Amino acid sequence: MTTKRLKIHYGELSTKGKNRRMFQQKLAEQIRYKTKSLEKIKIIANFDFMYLEWETTPYESIIEIIKTIPGIARFEPVYQVEKNLGAIQSRAVELFNELSIEPGDSFKVVAKRSDKNFVYDTYDIQREVGHVIGEIFPQLKVEMRQPTYRLAVQIDQGNHAYLSLVTYLGLQGMPYGSSGRGLLMLSGGFDSPVAGYLMMKRGLEIEAVHFSSPPYTSPQALDKAKRLAGALAHYGMPIQFINIPFAKIQESIKAHVHDQASMTVMRRMMLRIMDRLIVLRKADAIVNGESLGQVASQTIQSMRVINEVTHTPILRPLIAYDKNDIIDIAQNIGTHDISNEPFEDCCTVFAPASPHTKPRIEKIEELESRLPIEVLVEDAINNLTIEVIDEHYQARQIEQYDQFL
Ligand code: ATP
Ligand code: MG
Repeated sequence: MTTKRLKIHYGELSTKGKNRRMFQQKLAEQIRYKTKSLEKIKIIANFDFMYLEWETTPYESIIEIIKTIPGIARFEPVYQVEKNLGAIQSRAVELFNELSIEPGDSFKVVAKRSDKNFVYDTYDIQREVGHVIGEIFPQLKVEMRQPTYRLAVQIDQGNHAYLSLVTYLGLQGMPYGSSGRGLLMLSGGFDSPVAGYLMMKRGLEIEAVHFSSPPYTSPQALDKAKRLAGALAHYGMPIQFINIPFAKIQESIKAHVHDQASMTVMRRMMLRIMDRLIVLRKADAIVNGESLGQVASQTIQSMRVINEVTHTPILRPLIAYDKNDIIDIAQNIGTHDISNEPFEDCCTVFAPASPHTKPRIEKIEELESRLPIEVLVEDAINNLTIEVIDEHYQARQIEQYDQFL
C-alpha cells in the first residue's frame, strides 16, 4: 500500500508573520479532530503549505472533510511514484485517464527538481511527460498560459517523484479559533446561523447563546437551535450551547413596558446578559444575525439605542446582506432546512404588533426604570444551562428516534 498524500495551501495565513505557528497549530488541530474516526493522519507543516499523509482511507473521504475546514485556500492529492521517467509517465497517463476531458481542454506539465543529479532536468521532464500525454490524448492541446489542467511533477532528494493534477478549492478564510472567541446569539431563524458560519470562517471560535422562554416556547424550538449549532459545528469544533431562560424577563417586560417599546427593551436585556457571558466565558465579541433595515429592531436608530447598554464589540457580518443572499448561503451550508421548520422562538412569541422603528433613548431608560434589571439579569445567569453540541447531534437524534419506534 502506498502512502496517500494531500498538499494543503494555507489561506490568508501565509501573510500572518509571527502568528503563523499558532495558525498552523489551529489548522492541524481541526484536521486531526475531523479525521480521528477514520485514521491517524500525519501532518507535516511547511512554510506555506502542509502535507497530510495516511495509508488506507480513500482520498474522497479525506477530501470531503478538508473542504469544510476554514483556513485552506486550495489543496491537491499528491501521488508518489518511483523516481524514473517511465514510472512518472505511466502514472501521469493514469491520472489524465481519470478526467472527463472536454473538447477545447488544454494542459501543461510543470516540473521541479530538488535532486539536481537526476538524469533529466526540468525541461526534459516537461517535454518527455508532455509528449506522452499529447500522444495518448490528442484532443488535449498544450497551453502555457491558462491550461485547463496543470500536471505538477516534483523530483525529490530521496527515491521518489510526486505528481499532482487536480486542485480543489478550500473554504478560504482563517483557521477555526485563530481569531479569538465570540458568542453567537443563535435564534431559530435563517440569519444567525449564517452569521455564525461567516465569523467561524474568519477564524472566530463560536459559542452559541440561545434565549428560550418555556412554557411560551416549545421544546422543539430549543432543539431546533441545538441542531443549528450542530450544523455549524461541521465547520469548526464541537460548540458550547448556552441556553438562557428568558420567560421571566419577557413577562416582566410585558407587565411594565407598553407594546411599541417592548422589542427595544427586550433586545437591551439580551445584550446585558450577553455582556455578563462575555466575562464568564472569556470571549471577545458578540455575534448576531442583524441585517440593516430587515425588521423594526434593525433600523440604524434602533440598533443605536439597543447598543447603548454595552461596550463589547458586536459583530454583524450580515449587516449589508440581502435576505436572498442569506438564504443562498443557508442552503449551501446546510442550515436552511432546519431554520425553515415552523417552531417559534421567544422573539416571535412576544413580538409586538407594531414596534417602534425609531425608539428614543430617554423614553426607553424611563420605561426600564420600572424593571428590576439587575435581579432579572442575575437570575437568568444563575439558571443558564450548557451543553456541548457536535456535528453529529442531529444524526444521533434521528437514530435514537428510530430505535424508539
Ligand atoms: P434570525 O433569522 O437569526 O432569527 P431575524 O431576522 O429573525 O434573525 P430578529 O429576530 O430580529 O431577526 O433577531 C436578530 C438577531 O438577534 C438574530 O439574528 C440573533 O442573532 C439574535 N436573536 C434573536 N432571537 C434570539 C434568541 N431567541 N436567542 C438568541 N439570539 C437571538
Ligand atoms: Mg429571529
